Amino acid sequence: MSADLPTTIVIKTTDSCNSACHYCYEENAVDGTVRTIPLDVVEEIYRWAAESGLAKVQLVWHGGEPLLAGICFFQEIFSIQAKYERAGLEYIHSLQTNGILVDDDWIKLFRSYRIGVGISLDGPAWLHDFQRPLSTGCPSHSRVISALDRMTAAGLRVSLSAVVTQKSLGAEREIISFFSALPAESVDFLPMTVLASKLQDHSFLISAIEFSQFMCEIYKEWSRLDEERISIRYLENMIRGITGCHPSLCTFSGRCGAYISIDFDGSLYPCDSFMRAQEFRMGNLRDKTLNTLLSTSRYHTFRADIAQLPHTCENCEILQACNGGCPSERYSGDGKYMRLYPFCGTRRDLARLIAADLNAAGASELLRLPRAIQTEYP
Ligand code: SF4
Ligand code: SF4
Repeated sequence: MSADLPTTIVIKTTDSCNSACHYCYEENAVDGTVRTIPLDVVEEIYRWAAESGLAKVQLVWHGGEPLLAGICFFQEIFSIQAKYERAGLEYIHSLQTNGILVDDDWIKLFRSYRIGVGISLDGPAWLHDFQRPLSTGCPSHSRVISALDRMTAAGLRVSLSAVVTQKSLGAEREIISFFSALPAESVDFLPMTVLASKLQDHSFLISAIEFSQFMCEIYKEWSRLDEERISIRYLENMIRGITGCHPSLCTFSGRCGAYISIDFDGSLYPCDSFMRAQEFRMGNLRDKTLNTLLSTSRYHTFRADIAQLPHTCENCEILQACNGGCPSERYSGDGKYMRLYPFCGTRRDLARLIAADLNAAGASELLRLPRAIQTEYP
């Protein structure tokens, strides 16, 4: 039963949030109500995992802000998990937070259950606080940095994600030196372009060309740093692909089938990128088992459809490094995914820069790559 099954399940722990990021496109509740995913839905996920025959299942706790669900909620999750442990199956947990509520109790929980934590941090205070105020209107940067320091001091490995907006452009050198000075494992840069049509305020949006220029500048600054430089997941994935290793990020690897997303109300979507689009809602775990929903012809048709690639990609010299990008951004309606990925140019520009450096420096440059790049992901 395990062949071709999803192995990473992204769970919308809650739709509530205690931040009021100006660029947020989610319809989160910021009024203090906290609605969490029902525990019977969580139990169904574990039941499926235990019967799946998979050796590893990764559960990614997302939000809204997942820590609003409270420590007791997560303790209940791990009590459910205990019922579905079986030999040969490993549960791996990760959690994406804005870091505001992290305290010693949360750190203890993260350590006890070996939860990999990702924190959203856009850059230096002037940038982060401009974009990511709390729902109270207060700035959040110093609290996020304090959470990061406490977590890493406690031995946790933390990855960061930074949204790139108009405000970030031109500040690449400052941004890279800011992130390089932090005790985090890695940082991922996410362009504020994708869900443009959903945003009321378009002043944060950047074009695909601007993202390409930003990432090329980041690459140049990053490649001048010494061996201990922070891992940048976008660059790391490009380099992996170009040097013949498998990229790990889904938007580079073409392995969309490894992911599913479950909304806080139990609705199943093939991925977060398709979340809350009725066309991609595959049913609800309160009505049907996860196994049943993953066996429908609708789901199988989706999986087959997203494997379509534009003709330009089929003949592309860096196809093994890019794999056509994210299908949600190639979608043109009617089950067709033949539009060219909007960040095609970013990938080509970066590939040219990286290939030129590798050709010039040969193996010695490869040895200077950050440690994380040598690591295989689960
Ligand atoms: S649709 Fe996009 S975001 Fe979702 S798994 Fe595929 S590549 Fe990743
Ligand atoms: S770089 Fe462009 S053409 Fe090449 S695989 Fe990626 S999206 Fe397709």
